[in-house]
Amino acid sequence: DLNQLVDEVCLLLSQKANKKSIHLETQHNGEVVLQADLNRMKQVIMNLVANAINYSPEGSRVEISVQANPDSYKLRVRDNGIGIAEKEVSRIFERFYRVDKARSRNSGGTGLGLAIVKHIIDLHHATIDVDSVEGKGTTFTITFPRV
Ligand code: ATP
Ligand code: MG
Repeated sequence: DLNQLVDEVCLLLSQKANKKSIHLETQHNGEVVLQADLNRMKQVIMNLVANAINYSPEGSRVEISVQANPDSYKLRVRDNGIGIAEKEVSRIFERFYRVDKARSRNSGGTGLGLAIVKHIIDLHHATIDVDSVEGKGTTFTITFPRV
């Protein structure tokens, strides 16, 4: 149950969000039940939402939406954070890649989160896309084919 998983992740990350007064907002348009590895999928959502919190300013909002379409399910994590420059976007799924180490130093990550996400998404025959504008925000969209 993708909606339940999203709610669980929001609960797990609520303290982290509260520290920056970031509001985690969820949306869905109906039940979505996937055949997937529960814990790996939880890790995917955790990594994306943790990034959204890490790379957003205090007081902003992070939107997590689950959408059931006729031939796909979509999970979107949208933030109004620092964004990613166009020339960097293609590299963020590489292991250990971090955009502008000086800029993201205080968040203390390893640069593995998105590489793990990509790996898990590939194994589930799903896809992940990123849409980002530097200084404006980022949206990650995972598409699960409906079989
Ligand atoms: P960790 O392994 O702890 O997750 P990380 O967050 O640095 O470390 P990734 O999650 O793989 O590593 O992300 C890679 C890089 O992509 C980040 O360092 C950051 O520069 C950029 N990035 C990821 N998500 C976002 C986002 N939502 N907004 C802006 N930049 C992002
Ligand atoms: Mg990360």
